[in-house]
Amino acid sequence: MKNNLLNHDRFNTWQTCRKKYYFKYIKELKYPEFHQDYELGKSVHALIDYHLRGLNIEHLLKNSDKEIVVDNEIYKRWNAIKNHPILDKKVIKTEWGFNTNLKGTSHWLIGRIDAIFFDEEKGKYIIADWKTGIIPKNININFQHQIYLYALYQSKKDLKLDFKPENLVFQYFKIIPDAVEITEITFSEEKSLEYEENFVKIINKIENTIQFPAQENCQVKICSYKSICKNN
Ligand code: SF4
Repeated sequence: MKNNLLNHDRFNTWQTCRKKYYFKYIKELKYPEFHQDYELGKSVHALIDYHLRGLNIEHLLKNSDKEIVVDNEIYKRWNAIKNHPILDKKVIKTEWGFNTNLKGTSHWLIGRIDAIFFDEEKGKYIIADWKTGIIPKNININFQHQIYLYALYQSKKDLKLDFKPENLVFQYFKIIPDAVEITEITFSEEKSLEYEENFVKIINKIENTIQFPAQENCQVKICSYKSICKNN
């Protein structure tokens, strides 16, 4: 594996389709991904980040009004989240970029966590992930929360934090026009070890793979590599 920096998309792509992994991470073919809500998500993330940093967001709202476009979707999402209790919790980090060594290997897990909070009442640290689109379907086998939980737990000393794994949770905040839906994933010492073993196992598998077949009878409707998939 020539690139030893791994993010959750790389693991998820490997799990979803070997052929897609081959195109994206071995051949490194650059194709635009089809994220319909990309601009909306970017704007909502920026508003929350600015708000948490105590910065003035008026200019962002004004710009969004001009640029966005369809039915003030940004306002609707911002209105849904702006008074949510999560934003009143103690902010530990916002837009925290990490690179965490995968224990005992020369590989690094990389990513950016939207926000980390401390719930003083419950004594829990919360990894918040803002979603304006969909939440992963097979949540238990998705790598995003696994990598974020593992990385934060491994980095706690660097962040001058001290907590047990069961006092850390990952929460998806699905921000829709009139509401916010939370999906929570808990953490533990066992999960930390299980994730770590699984990351190493997958990396070894990738390193020893020479065939990257397409999915049989692929039903994926949106794939950047569809047009070249059959001929390669
Ligand atoms: S079209 Fe289907 S089989 Fe081909 S790369 Fe995309 S997901 Fe994989």
